[in-house]
Amino acid sequence: MPVPIDEPSTGNLQERNTNLLTGRDEPGQRSETVRRANLSAIVRELHLRGPLSRSELVARTGLTRSAIRALIGELAAGDLVVEEPAVRSGTPGRPSPVVRLLADDVVVLALEIAVDSLAVAIVGAGGVVHELVRVDRPRGHSSLDDVVADLVELARIVRARRPLGEVPVRVGVAVAGIVSRAGGLVRFAPNLGWVDVPLGERLAEALALPVEIEVEVANESDLGALAEFRRGAARGADDVLYTHAEVGVGGGIIVDGRPLGGVGGYGGEIGHMPVNPAGRACRCGSTGCWETEVGEGALLARAGHPLDGGRAAVDAVLSDAAAGRPEALAAIEETGTWLGVGLAGLVNILNPRRVVLGGLFARIYPFVDDAVARGLDRFALVASRQLVSVVPSTLGVDAPLLGAAEMAFEPLLADPAAWLAPRGSLVALASA
Ligand SMILES: [Zn+2]
Repeated sequence: MPVPIDEPSTGNLQERNTNLLTGRDEPGQRSETVRRANLSAIVRELHLRGPLSRSELVARTGLTRSAIRALIGELAAGDLVVEEPAVRSGTPGRPSPVVRLLADDVVVLALEIAVDSLAVAIVGAGGVVHELVRVDRPRGHSSLDDVVADLVELARIVRARRPLGEVPVRVGVAVAGIVSRAGGLVRFAPNLGWVDVPLGERLAEALALPVEIEVEVANESDLGALAEFRRGAARGADDVLYTHAEVGVGGGIIVDGRPLGGVGGYGGEIGHMPVNPAGRACRCGSTGCWETEVGEGALLARAGHPLDGGRAAVDAVLSDAAAGRPEALAAIEETGTWLGVGLAGLVNILNPRRVVLGGLFARIYPFVDDAVARGLDRFALVASRQLVSVVPSTLGVDAPLLGAAEMAFEPLLADPAAWLAPRGSLVALASA
């Protein structure tokens, strides 16, 4: 069931595009550009909000009723949407048909390589999760060959469960590492032991999909931020900080509705923000990074467990805390204090509307909400602090995977016209 998103209407695109393009394009090109932008506005609304009536589309896009009718006709002929008779809602007047995306046919494949697990999902337009499989993976270094083979097997399993055997329009991959988006090159993934690994290229070959189906790879926290922004705890907020802890600490930042990437796309690595020059050595080679104070290792060390105790040790600390054991509570409290310190600095820099905590942070938040609030009170600027709310993730462990699906859908949302023609051949391929 798609979750509606509360965001401002896209306004009158017809008029806006015409004005923007005045004097630059020939009239023919201009009307084609406007047509494509209007198709995009409709498909994006349906993807983010779920099925809408024509009247609602008129209200949300600012397009005329006749323009909506023509554009819907085009999308329906291209098998992207279907119009269904509306259920009478009790309001007077003729009910407007409901337009919905064909979530069964228009699907993407989402893959995730996390520290503790691998996951694959088939997600339909509108964010409908058709199939999802997650399996544990042993921590530590893994060869690219092994990870790719495991993902291909999971993809085979989820695709076999779909009776239609449809071909995904695109593939999105979330990975616990720093990624060069162009070409899907994983620059650095300390938990996997990967440096400059061509993950996107290898997956594209191994999945044996038609060559026109692209594989796009991105950092898991950037994708977690995207998913929470579109469908989770950050819905309705345009300025978002998502931060997620497992072994390491990752961050994804959305500014004015757009992801913050930086020059190379490596931005948002808030886990490596220096906070304690007298602190512990970090996996990145530096000292006293935020993750050395708030990551899993820091929590385990404070609670008297070995740093590499993994999930079992983390579970033990949390259940000890729930049972009121002082050592575990103190370890979590100190971790929460450092969480508040780092968040205060980030709130001062970013002035976000919402901070979404994922992974380990979401698990300890019930114990440390006061410590985090104290950190913000003490170290964040009053003006910024008054505008921000800190909340746990609502999508949980699946946020990066669902974000990978959202990323894979993005070209379709940006220019659905480009997908109307080629999809015919994909459907033919699928049924061949
Ligand atoms: Zn570091």
